[in-house]
Amino acid sequence: MHELGLMSGVVDTVVASARHAGADRVISVRLRIGDMTEVMDEALHFAWEVLRDEDPLTKDAELEVDYVRPRSLCLACGNEFEHDRFHLRCPDCGSAETSLLSGRELDIVGIDIETPDDPEDDTPR
Ligand SMILES: [Zn+2]
Repeated sequence: MHELGLMSGVVDTVVASARHAGADRVISVRLRIGDMTEVMDEALHFAWEVLRDEDPLTKDAELEVDYVRPRSLCLACGNEFEHDRFHLRCPDCGSAETSLLSGRELDIVGIDIETPDDPEDDTPR
């Protein structure tokens, strides 16, 4: 499953940066995914739920995903346009000679963490 491999990399990165920041736990993770990655939303969330349980830091973390529409540049007329996964032709001149500008990204755009920085908890008796 394509999504399990993708999410495994995401979870590794999230756990590493949360540890680095001294987090107690991860509250939520926000991803930006291009439509051209052909990721299935349901499979992605399933993979997340399986993988997050492997680490106590991410056990209860929520996953939020923003899907972004692909953009291409028409090599015939220079038009830049948004499209979906199936309509790649230039809407202006109808050319199929286009170059994908974005739509294959899978970025972690935000990680919400909880840190043990409550001063009352840290005060020694
Ligand atoms: Zn064109």
